Amino acid sequence: MVRAKKRLGQNFLVDENILGVIGRLAELADDDVVLEIGPGLGILTTYLADRVAQVYAIEVDTSLGPQLVERLAGRPNVELRFGDAVRLDLAEAAPGAKKLVANLPYNVATPLIAESLDRLPGIELWTVMVQREVADRLFASPSTKAYGAVSVLVQLVAERTGFHPVPPTVFRPRPNVDSALVAFRRTGLPHDFRRVKHVVEASFAHRRKRLANSLELAGVAERGRAEDAIATIGREPNVRAEELAPAEFLALAEALE
Ligand code: SAM
Repeated sequence: MVRAKKRLGQNFLVDENILGVIGRLAELADDDVVLEIGPGLGILTTYLADRVAQVYAIEVDTSLGPQLVERLAGRPNVELRFGDAVRLDLAEAAPGAKKLVANLPYNVATPLIAESLDRLPGIELWTVMVQREVADRLFASPSTKAYGAVSVLVQLVAERTGFHPVPPTVFRPRPNVDSALVAFRRTGLPHDFRRVKHVVEASFAHRRKRLANSLELAGVAERGRAEDAIATIGREPNVRAEELAPAEFLALAEALE
């Protein structure tokens, strides 16, 4: 029996019914090429491998190796790689992948999602299990508590296609929080996404401050220039980041150029 490592977000799926939900949300087809981050003990990996053409699985914990390799035996369409998905070049590790399907390690779920939006331009559909709180953030509306940088970035790139709340009972060990499956489909990738991302992250870095202040504190623009850019997009100088809709951040990044 493997001892789950909390610091690696190891909550393994034990309820196979949830696999059917994942498969439905991921719209699996036999010619799919799928990237899975964190295969763990391989329960989702084998499910995917039996339904799609190719699975690239990236796991950081080498101590899971023997069990994982044994579980994947006889499935030549799985390419398993040990490494840190936060640091690896995922596009190089998963050539041709069009879907990301994963029960994500909760501690790095948000940065992994945010990075995948443009670092994995070939991904067309995401189906991810995350903490319920993170799931709620992804498609939160402006001026709500859940709305933040990741909401803006995800909504600039994708539209939600599915949502399924998941209780702690489907995992071993059981997490202390609720989870949810979220599926979203790419609608595009804004030009100059890296720069937009920088502006969005700077804007939300100090939530309580005025947007112009946050932009100055983060070194994006001096106060006067920030206020000019805010006026250019038709907003008052005392606006806060959380009031801006995702598309307004595109206009703001452009006005700040
Ligand atoms: N897919 C398995 C399942 O559903 O039972 C395991 C999911 S578990 C929530 C998350 C997995 O991600 C663990 O196996 C953990 O070791 C792995 N992991 C954690 N951090 C990682 C990272 N930075 N890169 C790749 N895998 C990571």
